[in-house]
Amino acid sequence: MAEIIDGKALAEDVVAKVKTETARLTETGVTPGLAVVIVGEDPASQVYVASKSRRAKECGFHSVQHSLPQETGEEELVALVEELNADPAIHGILVQLPLPKHIDEGRIIQTIDPDKDVDGFHFINVGRLGTGTLGSAFVPCTPAGAMLMLERVRGRDLSGLSAVVIGRSNIVGKPMANLLLAANATVTIAHSRTKDLPALARTADVLVAAVGRPEMIRGDWVKPGATVIDVGINRIPAPEKGEGKTRLVGDVAFAEAKENAGAITPVPGGVGPMTIAMLMANTLTSAFRTAGLEPPAF
Ligand code: NAD
Repeated sequence: MAEIIDGKALAEDVVAKVKTETARLTETGVTPGLAVVIVGEDPASQVYVASKSRRAKECGFHSVQHSLPQETGEEELVALVEELNADPAIHGILVQLPLPKHIDEGRIIQTIDPDKDVDGFHFINVGRLGTGTLGSAFVPCTPAGAMLMLERVRGRDLSGLSAVVIGRSNIVGKPMANLLLAANATVTIAHSRTKDLPALARTADVLVAAVGRPEMIRGDWVKPGATVIDVGINRIPAPEKGEGKTRLVGDVAFAEAKENAGAITPVPGGVGPMTIAMLMANTLTSAFRTAGLEPPAF
């Protein structure tokens, strides 16, 4: 029976450290500042943004939220990002995605100052991560959180271990693969065109699922003793809870997989809570760097 890696508890540890370090930094006259920008009314995005702003306040940050109407023009959004780039009280800028269709998402991301890009999506930060220049990179929050969970079980050095990442998105799959590589794992990235995925998955000492398909990864895809990191968050109908009710499941069939795995992250309460915690950690790191101080390690 697998060890369950508790993302909620680990996220609280990260946030506790952010709070302590924020208090220490604030004494030197620098308060970490996070600006969160949202355009439009997408309900899921509203929930994410509200919890990011709430966490930032809880950490003792200077927390600013810009909520813009759906019809906001691209130039207007570029101007706001440039204003935040120039604002010395802001160390982290997060533009909530997706943006409305009439705005070029790529252009907005590339407008963010790479040294304030706490989401880690700017080409400069992608390049830093890709070249293993982790000392100055901002690493995307979800894979950064997933790595911290993995570290709890396997340590920092994954030499000799094989890792399979299922999913090749720019937000999760690719940065996750780069982090695993930087930690000395032997990495394979699988995706929708991969042949015989179950057989490939069974070779993994570390199996990361970032697909977005409910419970696709079955128990017999998991090598005995493997560490399974389930990034997927999928809402499915739950008629057993009542008519019209839903519940969250991961990309991994948890009940089956935990019989084979050595350790596994649950959904909910796994990678999900780590994402916002790592956003706080990245913002703190940015503030330390701006102040010319060595950021704390997470
Ligand atoms: P995405 O849709 O951008 O990418 C999905 C990837 O899965 C693609 O690379 C695709 O090739 C691959 N894929 C699709 N079908 C496949 C199949 N049948 N077999 C193998 N590979 C297949 O998604 P994403 O943004 O990377 O997100 C993946 C999952 O992680 C989603 O469930 C999302 O909700 C979740 N997610 C969670 C967090 C969090 O924990 N905070 C953050 C981001 C994403």
